[in-house]
Amino acid sequence: MKPSRVLSSPKGKTMKEWVTVLRAADAAARWHVHQRRKGSAQEPYVNHLLEVASLVTEATHGKDPDLVIAALLHDAVEDQEVPAELIAREFGSKVAAIIGEVTDDKTLEKAERKRRQVATAHKKSDQAKMLKLADKTSNLRAIAFSPSPGWSVKRRLEYIDWAKSVAAGLRGVSPWLEEQFDRAAEDAQRSVAVARGRVQ
Ligand code: ZN
Repeated sequence: MKPSRVLSSPKGKTMKEWVTVLRAADAAARWHVHQRRKGSAQEPYVNHLLEVASLVTEATHGKDPDLVIAALLHDAVEDQEVPAELIAREFGSKVAAIIGEVTDDKTLEKAERKRRQVATAHKKSDQAKMLKLADKTSNLRAIAFSPSPGWSVKRRLEYIDWAKSVAAGLRGVSPWLEEQFDRAAEDAQRSVAVARGRVQ
């Protein structure tokens, strides 16, 4: 069997994509190994990355492996200072470009970074828009189901409002993702107003 022929066949291409996606999941788990989510459950950070990756996979019917890989690695540059060049070398320049679009400039103040996310959302590529919407959906779900003990009600409400402002600029690409986001925002809002399971 000639390996080159296998790789160039449609089946070979699919196999190669699966391997690359799983290699990205493996890299994500290792790069974020010591990072936990801020919530009371302190879930491993890779749970967030896998959730965002599943959301974009479902939104694109599994047809965009580059976007799935970018979702798995979307916080690697921002949180773990993984060099963008390393991602480009290992996973290709398209993946690195999507991640670049969703990475905040950490040299700026937090308030300015948040302001920019709102101001630039509508200018992003469709892939970056989907990734950002999935990311915000995952974060809102976390507020609803495992809020950070250090976050006051005011801070949670402010986050929900801000996420909605960012999402306003991300609409028009995936109605399904928008639905997931809207539901997560409602759940988050409700969880802040009335604690789950304590409704009389
Ligand atoms: Zn994220």
